[in-house]
Amino acid sequence: ARLANQIAAGEVVERPASVIKELVENSIDAGATDILVEIDKGGHKRMLIRDNGKGIPREELSLALSRHATSKIEDIDDLESITSLGFRGEALASISSVSRLTLTSKTEEQAEAWQAHCEGREMEIQLNPAAHPKGASVEVLDLFFNTPARRKFLRAEKTEFQHVEEIFKRIALSHFEVGFTLKHNGRVVHRFPAVVPELKDKRIAAVCGQAFLQNSIAVHGEYQNVTVTGWCNAVGQGRGTNELQYSFVNGRMMKDRVILHAIRQAFEGMIDSQTYPAFVLFITMPPEELDINVHPAKHEVRFHQSRQVHDLIYKSVSDALLLSAS
Ligand code: ADP
Ligand code: MG
Repeated sequence: ARLANQIAAGEVVERPASVIKELVENSIDAGATDILVEIDKGGHKRMLIRDNGKGIPREELSLALSRHATSKIEDIDDLESITSLGFRGEALASISSVSRLTLTSKTEEQAEAWQAHCEGREMEIQLNPAAHPKGASVEVLDLFFNTPARRKFLRAEKTEFQHVEEIFKRIALSHFEVGFTLKHNGRVVHRFPAVVPELKDKRIAAVCGQAFLQNSIAVHGEYQNVTVTGWCNAVGQGRGTNELQYSFVNGRMMKDRVILHAIRQAFEGMIDSQTYPAFVLFITMPPEELDINVHPAKHEVRFHQSRQVHDLIYKSVSDALLLSAS
């Protein structure tokens, strides 16, 4: 089973940033309102994710670390209407197969916290009592310590940290209701307090900068049961940078060609081919109208009605541009 986990780990766990993504999404799925991410040395050495979500009962700790153990899907029909971020039951198993992982948790009902520890391939998972408030913490030490080939692909501390920071920002942009803190080498790098939906702008400014918000126009559109909201501007970015290009579909960060194309088309004539528009866009639609199951890392989406989605985004951005010009 561990071998299968290590193979799967290659798909889910590419670098520290992918570990952070999976673990923070688990915290969000668990209903956390406050999430702390602490990393040392770009994540090579240590990553800790602590949340105040519903936690994992003692008897489910070992199970949570095994492959295809997910508490989020009851039967195969559920796949049609997934609303949780995780659903494959692969992340914890994969991460724990290539690191030294400690999972600590306490549920509301439990009097005390419990901790499960495992190292790489070793299958025996030890359970010990521990101290922890309601919620869960996952500590990941020495990523890829037992897979030297993959360890070689880890880049410099600074580069890995940039990837973590980028993922962290994307997640912070998709969950305003959750407070996020990111620490690197003991120093607080970002602190984004939770905001109510009406104060979304505050989070946008905190993550993307006040300048982005000031330069941007607001986008709103809907067609049938698809909605598009957000901000965009033509101040843009140079080719090859993907900073300040954020799109979310039903709360998941997605970098999608259909979305990108529609936005570019709306800006046609306003920016040259070397410039990429900057945007933060939120798209919502009935979950059964898209496939998110394309790749284990789940960055891609396939819209069943991709033409309609494209045209709605194009029209919403174009309308916003017209309005701001008049
Ligand atoms: P998935 O998210 O696809 O279900 P994971 O391997 O990421 O698979 O997690 C396995 C299970 O462990 C989850 O289904 C959930 O029940 C539990 N779990 C993981 N992280 C947390 C957390 N932070 N709080 C509560 N439960 C968690
Ligand atoms: Mg998960």
